[in-house]
Amino acid sequence: MILLSKPAVELNDGVLLQDAVLQMQQGQFHRSVTECENYLQQQYNTTAFLTPSCTAALEIAALTLQLKPGDEVIVPSYTFVGTVTPFTKLGVTIRFADSTATHPNVDVESIKQKLSEKTKAIVVVHYAGVACAMNELLSLAADAGVPVLEDAAHCIGAKYNNQYLGTIGGLGAISFDSQKNISCLQGGALFVNNHNYLPIAETVRYNGTNKAAFLRKETTSFEWVGNGGNYEISNISAALLVQQLKRTQEINRQRLNMWQHYFTALEPLQANGFIALPAVPSYAQHNAHVFYVLLPDANKRNSFIAFMQSKGIQVLFHYLALHRSPYMQAQQVNDHLPYAGQFEERLVRLPLHTQLSKEEQQKVINSVYSFFEQ
Ligand SMILES: *Cc1c(COP(=O)(O)O)cnc(C)c1O
Repeated sequence: MILLSKPAVELNDGVLLQDAVLQMQQGQFHRSVTECENYLQQQYNTTAFLTPSCTAALEIAALTLQLKPGDEVIVPSYTFVGTVTPFTKLGVTIRFADSTATHPNVDVESIKQKLSEKTKAIVVVHYAGVACAMNELLSLAADAGVPVLEDAAHCIGAKYNNQYLGTIGGLGAISFDSQKNISCLQGGALFVNNHNYLPIAETVRYNGTNKAAFLRKETTSFEWVGNGGNYEISNISAALLVQQLKRTQEINRQRLNMWQHYFTALEPLQANGFIALPAVPSYAQHNAHVFYVLLPDANKRNSFIAFMQSKGIQVLFHYLALHRSPYMQAQQVNDHLPYAGQFEERLVRLPLHTQLSKEEQQKVINSVYSFFEQ
């Protein structure tokens, strides 16, 4: 079976796990965490907290903004549920925005229509590591006096006009889960870009205590000073990231080569109207997190998935538009967001990971062609 994705962990990274065990015996429980955070801070020129997941990073963000029931947050409908549960669990009302006609990313015009006095944050998701239209977004948000949070789960190393994604909004969240370009199976990072958020964010992160100040040796003990949770990643997980983070550019370059090969090889099918290929705006320097194609409709897409499966190739659709989810339906959300619905029904992802061989990729391409030649 040719799998859709595989983590970019290398066998050598196992040595790092051994190091983490040794560190435990020496009473050093955070050494790899600190190493990763220092690296992220330098590379991305911001303050970085390593977290147990991207969802956890967004939970810290939501608590840092001190959101409460009755507040509203605008979120794209076409995203993973982890983008929204950090807000719904605080009783915040979600207002869903649509995708653009040409890309799964959020449409700024749709956000504008959902803005109100109650809006306390705008959350954007850069789908597949392709940047949203950040200039328009930031000026809309500034006019409304509302912070922008980036769910940059897909985005390690990707940029908007030479600025790293996740470092542009007030707060940004990265994921290192098993499907992402850099992975420790479960992990994430919060980028605190607007330093006004730092005092609360570092309190939230350490279970509502001033442990961060204690670790900086500013106090001799720490105590409970606010709201928070346990948002510390295990040092064992962090150990798997130490070398991978340093390989980010190389991993992304490998993925981009494969991405480009798919694009070029499948262009004739687009020219003949069988599929649509991903649209990447000129301001986006993406990281090839996903290669997807769009089929004409859900029926065709689903028979394509079954056909590829029969050839031993795992291809998958992606998000189920959240405004149509059972949980939101039960809350009488009845938005009509045609483009989010369209990407739910038409999009399918092709295998893309660092261990995919040239021969395997050729088999995927040949199989896509045979589906349309049936
Ligand atoms: C993967 C993902 C998340 C959640 O990441 P975890 O690290 O699994 O919590 C959130 N948002 C998007 C868009 C994702 O793809």
